[in-house]
Amino acid sequence: MIIGISACLLGDKVRYDGGDQQNPHVLRLARHYETRKICPEVNIGLGVPRPPIQLIDDLRFPTAIGKHDPSLNPSDALRTLGKTVATTWPGLSGFIVKSRSPSCGNGSTKVIINGEDIRTGTGLFTEQLKRNSQIPVIEETNLDSPASYTQFIMRVEHYYQQHYISKHGDNYE
Ligand code: SF4
Repeated sequence: MIIGISACLLGDKVRYDGGDQQNPHVLRLARHYETRKICPEVNIGLGVPRPPIQLIDDLRFPTAIGKHDPSLNPSDALRTLGKTVATTWPGLSGFIVKSRSPSCGNGSTKVIINGEDIRTGTGLFTEQLKRNSQIPVIEETNLDSPASYTQFIMRVEHYYQQHYISKHGDNYE
């Protein structure tokens, strides 16, 4: 059973500014479960440090462009990566994503539409992750309470049972 994690939440210095977003609840979870981390923006080759990106134009199907350079448009690459992870990571049964990120956020990301900030968008990597799988996805901010932490783990274990053990038997790898 694998839980995917936005790499910056584990302390990897992969943010656009070279920093991290290490989170104690995520670290605790990673001590007890098998995890696999990824930074979508690094994975598609944007590097560290890199120009920051933002979401624009459409709440449901936004475009990601450079905050200071609108010619930078990694939208397709981020979407393709989200689909690839959802469909090819063996045992993937849940994902903890970084809130408010234009790549990783899940319902808390700012989208700029007609000059107005709307803060209920989803990052492009995460949007495709969800579109191409049914795995439970949670932002790190929602792991704060013991109840939501426990509920997330229960949903992950249920997903694993339903999609791997039931289908493949105990010997699934
Ligand atoms: S939020 Fe996502 S894209 Fe941004 S640094 Fe963290 S893992 Fe990378």
